[in-house]
Amino acid sequence: MMKLDPYINVDPGTMSPFQHGEVYVTDDGAETDLDLGHYERFVNVRLSGKNSITTGKIYESVIAKERRGDYLGATVQVIPHITDEIKRCIDAATQGFDLGLVEIGGTVGDIESLPFLEAIRQIRTDRGAEKAMFIHLTLVPWIAAAGELKTKPTQHSVKELRSIGIQPDVLLCRSEQPLPDSERRKIASFTNVSEKAVISVVDMDNIHKIPLWLDAQGLDDLVVERLRLADRVTERADLTEWLDVVDAAENPVDEVTIGVVGKYVDHKDAYKSVAEALRHGGLRQRTRVNLEWIESQDIERDGAESVLGGLDGILVPGGFGDRGFEGKVLASKYAREQGIPYFGICYGMQAAVVDFARHVAGLEGANSTENDRQSPHPVIGLITEWRTTSGEIERRSEDSDMGGTMRLGLQEQRIKPGTRAHALYGQDVVAERHRHRYEFNNRYRTQLEDAGLVVSAKSLDDLLVEMVELPDHPWFIACQAHPEFQSTPRSGHPLFIGFVRAARERGAGEGQAGGKLKEATA
Ligand code: GLN
Repeated sequence: MMKLDPYINVDPGTMSPFQHGEVYVTDDGAETDLDLGHYERFVNVRLSGKNSITTGKIYESVIAKERRGDYLGATVQVIPHITDEIKRCIDAATQGFDLGLVEIGGTVGDIESLPFLEAIRQIRTDRGAEKAMFIHLTLVPWIAAAGELKTKPTQHSVKELRSIGIQPDVLLCRSEQPLPDSERRKIASFTNVSEKAVISVVDMDNIHKIPLWLDAQGLDDLVVERLRLADRVTERADLTEWLDVVDAAENPVDEVTIGVVGKYVDHKDAYKSVAEALRHGGLRQRTRVNLEWIESQDIERDGAESVLGGLDGILVPGGFGDRGFEGKVLASKYAREQGIPYFGICYGMQAAVVDFARHVAGLEGANSTENDRQSPHPVIGLITEWRTTSGEIERRSEDSDMGGTMRLGLQEQRIKPGTRAHALYGQDVVAERHRHRYEFNNRYRTQLEDAGLVVSAKSLDDLLVEMVELPDHPWFIACQAHPEFQSTPRSGHPLFIGFVRAARERGAGEGQAGGKLKEATA
């Protein structure tokens, strides 16, 4: 599975979540397009930086080669040098697999996507027509006022593609309404695509129905046929896991409302993996998870009680910068004092530590140095030196580049026996993906522990605090890493499952879903 993004950023790591949604992190610490998260959740596959390519990355390596003199004096051009580099990246990422699925972002007709389209056109010619197929995703808008579907944009984008030498084999037509046969026929005749290969991809209330829906229309058969895979693919796809996932979502026995406190809440894609992981946590126990998106500055303005009252659980996800940070600290304080399940992730853990330091340990003015460099109690600070998984020492300072300089990727941690985190994971050592610059400041460890904060996990060298929790609270866990990146609909993640269960228990205690909860546990 591969995503090619035509923008010039080298990776999405420096892009605002407002513009591009969440930055997804792979095991090897690559900061990638959020589509890699969809790939990992839908297909049982672990991806890496190789699977996410941008124009910036391609040009970066072509220019480096040019400077080294690799092109032996040739004039370096889009065709063939840029297109060759794109093909090389596709080869590198798909080598050793039976099939590679390569998605190109953007819209046909964009200036930026042309080299990518040219590269895949060449791949088909290089490898032979039976070794590559083109699936084109188009929009078939529904004009509500006229009550009709418009096929013109699809006709037009296929025309554009054909003008650069690409004839799609399959069209995936996104629309609000299922495509009637008449429209399917019309699209087929205008685009030279066979009728059965014009697939209707209708908006679904539940994204997990999509594999079933595509299967019902025979998309997999088309692929097998077109790529001559019939002798290797002898059985029909087994979709029982997806049926189970859909069944759990459609027939819930319980329901919880979780508040997600952040600063990009108007842009839901900014917290895509968190939202998905919460839903997966619910699916494992047939519980519908309703999400309430809360702007953390609203808490600063209106007070925690008026914004957060009535929730079954509060989750503070990752984030950057000082805007809205105080609201996150107040969310932690409110959850802690009211006994509401609290799940802090990355910045959400740092906010919880600041809250605990200020309001329980009495460290007035405690803060993260990300927000206040002069804080008298920098309980969260920038670490300037650490060892990577491969054993090298990496260094950074306040002046380091913003791109690619965080503590990134899968790192192991040891969980303290007897803690809630240990009970949930059921393991001594686990690995989670990281993406942050600041860390729990060890100078305050004893002081905060003496005040009642439990450090439930540390890095294997004991130097970095990975998780904290509160023992005298129904459920208060905060972690430095991003467990949401490893949750899948089919298995869920232990921390999210535990958090949703605690939210259900609270809901039941409040008398909202009591009867239902009993039934579900039985
Ligand atoms: N801003 C914090 C840091 O850099 C938290 C990052 C995050 O939440 N991903 O450490």
